[in-house]
Amino acid sequence: TRQIVLASRPVGLPTKENFRFENIDLSEIKDGEVLLKGLYYSVDPYMRGRMNDAKSYVPPFQLNEPLTGSVVAVVSESKSDSFTTGDYVLASLPWMEKCIVNEKEIHKIDTTIAPASSYLGVLGMTGLTAYLGLMQIGKPKSGETVVVSGAAGAVGIVVGQIAKIQGCRVIGIAGSDKKTNLLTEEFGFDVAVNYKTTDDLTKAIVDACPDGVDIYFDNVGGEISDVVISLMNFHSRIPLCGQIALYNNTGDVTGPRLQPMLLTRSILMQGFIVSDYKSLFPEATKQLSEWVKNGKLKSTETIINGFEQLPDALIGLFSGENEGKMIVQAADT
Ligand code: NDP
Repeated sequence: TRQIVLASRPVGLPTKENFRFENIDLSEIKDGEVLLKGLYYSVDPYMRGRMNDAKSYVPPFQLNEPLTGSVVAVVSESKSDSFTTGDYVLASLPWMEKCIVNEKEIHKIDTTIAPASSYLGVLGMTGLTAYLGLMQIGKPKSGETVVVSGAAGAVGIVVGQIAKIQGCRVIGIAGSDKKTNLLTEEFGFDVAVNYKTTDDLTKAIVDACPDGVDIYFDNVGGEISDVVISLMNFHSRIPLCGQIALYNNTGDVTGPRLQPMLLTRSILMQGFIVSDYKSLFPEATKQLSEWVKNGKLKSTETIINGFEQLPDALIGLFSGENEGKMIVQAADT
């Protein structure tokens, strides 16, 4: 089977040379194990951090070892009492077309609620991140104004819709007209701003938020966040979810010093990792599934075909090639 290993550690934006394809033979499966075929592979911005040799909340990928990530797979052979051939499962798996894992490492998914790929997005890690970051830290109240950066991505597009469900005014910031149109026309955002083409982001946000900003759900950091934070209200909240604008930085991070404003306006800024809220996953998943079922929460995915596209898909996150969740589909069933 084919696998993709980390060939070298990137400096700045990753390139194809940082990845290497290899062919390996799989052993026989043993009792308690299953043979999986990967269908949908998630590529996520946090993987960039794992390509560095640096301590973080997840260990770095090892050189010459396969990268790993969330995968929806189908069981193609089973020596487990809990799984049968044809079951759809979700697991953290190596970037291999096929692999053998212990039954304890995989979870069955229910494809009658939503398509299998949803378990990497709206019903998976990014949906949970959106829901828990917004509800636990943002604590939206009806009538408040919510600004979301990275708004047309997997997390952002869910944040905006949940904020609408909570009765908020929602402004999205994204990197193309196609994305801003999608946000206002298909996903119910009140206003969407293209940060790449606007002459004056400050004015665009001021115009869109006549009552100021009560919640800023930050997916990107950098200059966009400098602008939004400068416009926040007294007692406003900032769920600090991601800083993708800085992930490929090679130097020190610099920018305006906004701390005095956090102080004088009593602003709460809290970073979080979705797994901080593990105990809330069951109830969050239940709520997200309900909204998906009754049509209140929609999702969109950019699905790229072919296992060999995984490196490009990951790199493409940093130039905004995705609308909604970025997924690579390696096989049909
Ligand atoms: P997305 O689907 O949002 O994909 C990334 C998007 O980021 C791109 O489509 C692009 O959209 C935007 N982007 C890329 N580079 C820049 C830049 N320099 N400045 C501004 N925007 C940029 O990814 P996710 O939804 O999976 O993740 C969103 C954020 O949330 C990431 O920062 C990620 O690390 C973080 N995250 C945090 C989690 C947590 O537990 N705290 C869990 C999951 C994600 P555009 O065209 O608009 O530029």
